[in-house]
Amino acid sequence: MAKRIKAMRGTHDVLPEQASRWRAIEDEFAKICRQYGYREIRTPIFEATELFERGTGFSTDVVQKEMYTFEDKKGRRVSLRPEATPSVIRAYLEHSLAKQGKVLKLFYLGPMFRYDRPGAGRYRQFHQLGIEIIGTPSAVADAEAIVLLWEFLRGIGLSGLKMRVNSLGCEKCRVEYSRLIREFLKERLERLCDDCHERFERNPLRVLDCKQEMCKAVVAEAPEIGSILCEACQEHLAEVENLVSQANVDYYIDSRLVRGLDYYTRTVFEVFHVSSGVDNSLGGGGRYDRLVEDLGGPQTPAVGFSAGMERIAQALEADGVDVKGESRLDVFIAPMGKQAFPTAFKLALDLRQALSVWLEFDDRKIDRQLRSASRLGARFAAIIGSEEISKGIVKMKDMISGEQFEVPQSEALKWLKHRLKEDSLE
Ligand SMILES: [Zn+2]
Ligand SMILES: [Zn+2]
Repeated sequence: MAKRIKAMRGTHDVLPEQASRWRAIEDEFAKICRQYGYREIRTPIFEATELFERGTGFSTDVVQKEMYTFEDKKGRRVSLRPEATPSVIRAYLEHSLAKQGKVLKLFYLGPMFRYDRPGAGRYRQFHQLGIEIIGTPSAVADAEAIVLLWEFLRGIGLSGLKMRVNSLGCEKCRVEYSRLIREFLKERLERLCDDCHERFERNPLRVLDCKQEMCKAVVAEAPEIGSILCEACQEHLAEVENLVSQANVDYYIDSRLVRGLDYYTRTVFEVFHVSSGVDNSLGGGGRYDRLVEDLGGPQTPAVGFSAGMERIAQALEADGVDVKGESRLDVFIAPMGKQAFPTAFKLALDLRQALSVWLEFDDRKIDRQLRSASRLGARFAAIIGSEEISKGIVKMKDMISGEQFEVPQSEALKWLKHRLKEDSLE
């Protein structure tokens, strides 16, 4: 036998049972987004590397260490997207979507790629869903993003959630805070990890989200951004808080929340599952008032979030919530003998107008076919042999009670729909 090839490290297959749950989660997300007035956008999974260098930020770990970057056959530098926001903004500018209205509300879902150390719940190809609100500086938009994320996660059945919120300030506040942090860290450089020495040179604020214990200990004593926020930024945060608490979001202000990307201004937020811990966020986002400009557009304030499918699926599992996917099979059609296949094939065609139907492919003994039907979880088996064909009927077997019924072939769809409806009423 030829050598088998395995999936690459850091990737995973979403097998049918899991995939039907994913589909249900994605459908819920699309549904709530439409309820909030968002429309879907799909962008390519690879882009010019420069988009992420300028968008995600040159000093971030994502761009410095984790991007899948390669040269294509023409020598262009290409990267698999590590996140969707820069792509969405590129598309927004490229297609002049601003013409469609003052504010644009978009949602997306799909795979993202980061060359990170694979670990529990961390993959090199992972999947995100998210939204962007482009074109408003309003705190109401920040609150809408937070509430939408919260309502989505609650809606699919998660409990024990907490949202942490912070403000990173405006341009003015950030320059001031950056200066403060640089001064603070300068005195304590010997207590930081090697990576943080580099971070200190590139962008000292990046030290604040180092995961190393030694660095966390230093950061715990660092000055908080809240202490230097300008009046306008304080008001903005207060307005977000006021709106979010009206929606019963269980949140708190966490002045240590910085998030790992360069583009955030003012509001940032993250939602986590209390039992998995604050470091395992299910999703988060924030306001990014400079990004559109950084990517060559006019000054355009925006806010958004993304959430991780793998993390959400794990949290649902931990909560013991089974999101109902559509794995239900209504009927298994079991032809008896080769000559029954044309009639069975025609019956499948009829029933598939409304039901989920499995048609047996091979000429097998009936008891084997019924065993397959029960393994597939079929609600009914429709048995057709030469006798049934000559009488113009089909033998319906209730796979739960074992009862059998003779039903005219022309009535089969009506009969099954009626029985399945009774099931749903029980
Ligand atoms: Zn400010
Ligand atoms: Zn560090």
